[in-house]
Amino acid sequence: MGAANDEKRPIGSAEDIGAPKRVTEPSDDMTPFEAATYFFYEAADRLNLDNEMREILASSYRELAVQVPVVMDDGHRMVFRGYRIQHNGARGPYKGGIRYHESADLDEVRALAALMTWKNALIDVPFGGAKGGVQCDPRSMSDGELQKLTRRFTAMISYVIGLNRDIPAPDMGTNAQTMAWMMDAYGQKYGYTPGIVTGKPVEMGGSPGREEATGRGVVMSTKEACERKGTKFKGASIAIQGFGNVGYWAAIIAEEEGAKVVAVSDVEGGIFNGDGLEIEKVDKHRWNEGSVTSYTEGDKISNEDLLEVECDILIPAAIQGVIHERNAEQIKAPMIVEAANGPTTPVADNILSKRDITVLPDILVNAGGVTVSYFEWVQNIQQFRWEIDNVNKELEKRMIKATDDVFARAAKDQTTLRDAAFDIAVERVARAAEIRGYV
Ligand code: NAD
Repeated sequence: MGAANDEKRPIGSAEDIGAPKRVTEPSDDMTPFEAATYFFYEAADRLNLDNEMREILASSYRELAVQVPVVMDDGHRMVFRGYRIQHNGARGPYKGGIRYHESADLDEVRALAALMTWKNALIDVPFGGAKGGVQCDPRSMSDGELQKLTRRFTAMISYVIGLNRDIPAPDMGTNAQTMAWMMDAYGQKYGYTPGIVTGKPVEMGGSPGREEATGRGVVMSTKEACERKGTKFKGASIAIQGFGNVGYWAAIIAEEEGAKVVAVSDVEGGIFNGDGLEIEKVDKHRWNEGSVTSYTEGDKISNEDLLEVECDILIPAAIQGVIHERNAEQIKAPMIVEAANGPTTPVADNILSKRDITVLPDILVNAGGVTVSYFEWVQNIQQFRWEIDNVNKELEKRMIKATDDVFARAAKDQTTLRDAAFDIAVERVARAAEIRGYV
């Protein structure tokens, strides 16, 4: 053996293998991946994880970046950038959504993949964490263009996904139709495989209850938290930023459960009505007019104003980083429910904690979607469809158990709910990684 081979390769730092530099003084300039990793490192300190384990858990296992060329309707060619990031697979096949959004770059998708690892561990489904994204503006694209983009992207990432390897699902900018195209494109190459994606239309092997599962889970977890805090969900006033899949379903189910939804918004802006909005009417208006902002039974407000309205529960259900250093002091709601992924920056999180505002963290409250995705995957493998009541009952069991676990851990360790959620999740993943022999 030559001398070079005898030399021991020094163990690199987590940063050498793609983790962001650890930020010790959080600021609003942190990127989404720095922010997500900040919460991980804090948990790693509390759990006394060794350096090797930190290296494994702070960076992604596999990162695939692809070109996605699409001939647009007017004949010109656009080359989009797409990603599939597999963060950690110690607890099972990789699982996580596909986002179509202008901001879906490598850093954002890495952050979302890591959050999926922690979420899947916390809700205790047998999956690792992944995320995909294509940097594009789906609102400006026709159905034909979106279908071409999706088929091409699926072909490009088909080498790293699989029924027992990595199972995509919808996220912001994608939906059941996108999943149907993905399943079809994958099937053309590898044969009929409905379990390759979840969040499909029910006619194509999707699960009853999947479309509304994230919003339903948000309400289930929030009701449990209200009970634990000794406050009433029934009659509570709720403001929701983002009126897409998650925001709409959270609004309609909260209304059914007796809460009063006083504000909703979309990317154009929001509306406020202190007496409560009629959600089905707002939804009809949104479909007819393209936005909630011209709805007349309420006052027009901006997305920034929505976060600061007087209400009992604030639910950010759109994009990351909307609660930050500059508005955290102005938030009036005593409870924030993170339906979106990463809506609170680490600086804002510290401010909210000092102000004694209860924050139900994203990796807990928005886990309903991946939970029913797990049920869908199980049904596809079993080739057996569950009844909707069964889906909702099983979802409720898991949402309540995870919420109770987080409250119990926070009480035991005297931490915030986010810290408790990360501690439980990181501990579970680290344990699995150790048993597998990753380190
Ligand atoms: P969606 O595309 O269906 O809806 C997004 C909503 O946010 C739309 O109303 C859109 O107009 C609004 N929006 C977009 N940009 C905005 C901006 N800059 N300011 C204010 N509003 C804006 O997406 P979705 O599936 O409802 O996802 C919403 C959030 O929930 C995302 O953070 C996503 O990662 C998270 N999430 C989704 C699921 C799921 O099952 N779909 C599961 C877990 C978490």
